[in-house]
Amino acid sequence: MIHKAELEQKALNLFSSPKIFRSRSLLAALAIGVLSAVGVNAQPGIRLGAITPISPLYYHKGPLISTPTVYLIWYGNWQQTNRIDNADGQQIVRDFLNAIGGSPYFAINSSLSTGSNVITGNVAFGGETTDTGSQGKILTDLKVGRVVTNAIVSGALPSDPSGVYFVLTSSDIVEASGFCTRFCGFHSHGVLSGTNIKYAFVGNPGRCLRGCAPQVLSPNGNAAVDGMVSIIAHELSEATTDPDGRTGWYDLRHSENADKCAWTYGRHQYRAANGAWANMGWDYLDGNGAFLYHRDFLIQRNTVRVITKTGMQVNYCATSYDPVTKTYLP
Ligand SMILES: [Zn+2]
Repeated sequence: MIHKAELEQKALNLFSSPKIFRSRSLLAALAIGVLSAVGVNAQPGIRLGAITPISPLYYHKGPLISTPTVYLIWYGNWQQTNRIDNADGQQIVRDFLNAIGGSPYFAINSSLSTGSNVITGNVAFGGETTDTGSQGKILTDLKVGRVVTNAIVSGALPSDPSGVYFVLTSSDIVEASGFCTRFCGFHSHGVLSGTNIKYAFVGNPGRCLRGCAPQVLSPNGNAAVDGMVSIIAHELSEATTDPDGRTGWYDLRHSENADKCAWTYGRHQYRAANGAWANMGWDYLDGNGAFLYHRDFLIQRNTVRVITKTGMQVNYCATSYDPVTKTYLP
């Protein structure tokens, strides 16, 4: 069986000179988390992860995204009868992305603001488009780049230097460079007509639930798409704090902020209404403020940077952060 930590992510540069980064530090991080969950912690949940400090991230003087604007490209067939790749599945993704801007979860990234680069913790939603398969059912890294390029060049999505363009594939789509065997998603960037475009691939865990989803019974009753949402959160956090790949925040082992906490879900898990594990949720309201429905999510943790009273910087894995009190939940 493939260890989940090996399935994490990579960053590559497609439009210009291709190069592949892979993080090697995730195994160590996960091992600590598993030990902690088994040995120390008595709270319920899956893959709680460490509460002790983790090795620090360092800033490498490159750009950060102050407030990312998310664009979605639904690739493949999202109108299937498999109970995964359908309109309800798409709405799970939209609802999460509409909720995380300004949330205690995405505020974790604001702890990596620097003097001249303020990360607001907000997220804008820029729009979405569909590509039913212009590059076929077997994608390569190059073809993922082409999907993004086509969406912008065709005018379906605007060209936005603060954008993060997500290629979200249906479960009948392969990413031959290693989706399900080497990674579950990756983020990258490239220059298109003079604009630095940040984008991410997130594959459909319906192809490999055991590899790319944390649980088979999931809060919104769609384990594949619920798993996808956690990977989207991971890649969006990394695209915000290291948009050009190894020029922003990463550690001595070249792990980015979300890599360091990947596949751990923290100490504040609870059971969603259907019994699945969750660690955050929101009420969804109609235009008049009336309650429509509630959704829960199980989202992997992310690195928070805390400055101690003596000025030391200490890093932890967290599920939420309060930038006012500078406190976090592990
Ligand atoms: Zn990552």
